[in-house]
Amino acid sequence: MKHIKDLSSSSKGEIINFINSFDYIFSDIDGVLMLATTPLPGAAGCIDKLKRLGKKVGFVTNNTISTLEEVKRKLSHFDVTDQEIVTPVLSVVAYLRKIECPKDIFCIGGHVLRDTLEKAGYNIVKIQVDELKEDMALLRDVCLEFLEQSKNVGAIVMDLDVNFHLIQAEAAILLLNRNPTMPFLVAATDDSGPLTENIEFIGNKFYVEAIERITKIPCKILAKPSIELKHYLEERFDIPQPNRVLFIGDSLTSDITFANRAGFQSLLVLTGQTKLDDLVNWQHQDENRPDYYVKSLNCFSDLLTGLNII
Ligand SMILES: [Mg+2]
Repeated sequence: MKHIKDLSSSSKGEIINFINSFDYIFSDIDGVLMLATTPLPGAAGCIDKLKRLGKKVGFVTNNTISTLEEVKRKLSHFDVTDQEIVTPVLSVVAYLRKIECPKDIFCIGGHVLRDTLEKAGYNIVKIQVDELKEDMALLRDVCLEFLEQSKNVGAIVMDLDVNFHLIQAEAAILLLNRNPTMPFLVAATDDSGPLTENIEFIGNKFYVEAIERITKIPCKILAKPSIELKHYLEERFDIPQPNRVLFIGDSLTSDITFANRAGFQSLLVLTGQTKLDDLVNWQHQDENRPDYYVKSLNCFSDLLTGLNII
């Protein structure tokens, strides 16, 4: 079991060795750089220092409900370019292109995913969701009509869809039963997300799992912590050595697990989902364990200043 190093307790020599051990930094956004819409203190200065040290930086979020422009606007304090932003919607489009998927797609997802697919030249095939009656013969006719209209569909893409309808899950099942090798891609797989401190909104994980269970066909996830995202990052950022990448995140199960699966180094910050108590009273899996932790990017920034190398 590997030990988690506290960066703040490391010597200057150890920190310099650490800084010299990576060329690329991928950082999560929420809980690392931002808390909701507020930038975390010192985070922008830390990223700036790392860039001045010659590190190439990418911002990797599992957020699929914001457009690229909205993510960029949110990160306006961080001097971010389009090329530095990674979202599951972008990795889905890249995957479809890589496999030369036919243009017809069946998509369960929000407007950002649907608009991005359409802008990338894909045609979204729909199933009738309005005015469905509790009549098995009519439901059968809807399914048969969809099967007829979806003959050229090359992939299923799923994400959070607040207008999700049971018949959409049925449509995905029909497609997979007809062609079990059809790519079944998933952008985000959250159980739920917070609307307020006390209100959780159901995520898409449950209807993805329902389709997997009925068809016995596993989906391919293109977001953290899936290894598929590593392949996308390697190609997009031209990474020769995974061990010379540092992933910075606040989530043990998403960010740190992704880093471990990808063979990246990992740095946990305690400004988001994970608290010091989670490390002290370790109750997680070994693949959730970070290489390093630091209280915040503000502390990391102070450590960099103390090195007198910038
Ligand atoms: Mg986060």
